[in-house]
Amino acid sequence: MRIDLHTHSNRSDGTDPVAVLLAHAQESGLDVIALTDHDTADGWTEGRIAAEELGIGFVPGIEISCKLNGVSVHLLSYLLDPSYPALAEELRIVREGRTDRIPSIVARLNSVGVPLTVDEVLAQATGTPSVGRPHVADALVANGTVANRSEAFDRFLADGRAGHVPHYAIEPGRAIDLVRAAGGVPIIAHPWGRSSYKVMNQDTIARLVQDHGLAGIEIDHQDHSGPSRTALHAIADDLGIIATGSSDHHGAGKIDHDLGVNTTDPEQFERLLEVAKENATAAPDAQVPEAYLP
Ligand code: AMP
Ligand code: ZN
Ligand code: FE
Ligand code: FE
Repeated sequence: MRIDLHTHSNRSDGTDPVAVLLAHAQESGLDVIALTDHDTADGWTEGRIAAEELGIGFVPGIEISCKLNGVSVHLLSYLLDPSYPALAEELRIVREGRTDRIPSIVARLNSVGVPLTVDEVLAQATGTPSVGRPHVADALVANGTVANRSEAFDRFLADGRAGHVPHYAIEPGRAIDLVRAAGGVPIIAHPWGRSSYKVMNQDTIARLVQDHGLAGIEIDHQDHSGPSRTALHAIADDLGIIATGSSDHHGAGKIDHDLGVNTTDPEQFERLLEVAKENATAAPDAQVPEAYLP
């Protein structure tokens, strides 16, 4: 069983339509794939239909933008009710903040001599409710400023560069509460990745488990070195929480993130499905979706 629990489509900042992503997952020899676009469940219906046609397992999820002490943290959430009112409202505000920051990003880039317009960015994000820095990068590729997304991030968009403007994000404890109220399973994405290593120490993870019911952490991820993975596995064992692995695939948008480059151990996936059942039972108001597992 090869299970990849973190991928993006063009419903957020991946480059492939959902059905293409699912077809690529099957071609890559995956048995189960989770769709976890940023702050939206937009692709779920299409994903479920494509999965049934292809006969590949499908787990609906969302990667929720969070912020702790000003540091960006991502929360993966699985098998939750995306229309649960308090959660839906928070996600709406996050997406609005994503769109509203584009003019500031463009103005800041213009002020350092980079030619770009808001319309050029929005043209790269047609059809997605979740506009991100990768769409700004795509606009800079389209107008010839840079060669690819990586160069755009390195020169202009990475944290601390001229074009990085933060957007509204949810405090992780509150996001975990909302995911559980919506009947889902909360798992911290790449806790020691790009920025979140600054705040996601063992004590913080333990607090999120004990006070909020965090179910697990994503460990096997391209942002984590071998020693980080070993240390994170020790933390997960210590706290008795789930350990997952994934590609964090973004189509052509991110190099070294091919589908299945990291996977989740089937035993850990079984645990995730068990917690999903428990959390759904504990949230009778939530209309939770089912995983499709042929
Ligand atoms: P945002 O949430 O819109 O601020 O943008 C964050 C997104 O940019 C995440 O999906 C990251 O995977 C992506 N990202 C961050 N750094 C890079 C990079 N160097 N190359 C490509 N994508 C990146
Ligand atoms: Zn992304
Ligand atoms: Fe992420
Ligand atoms: Fe991601």
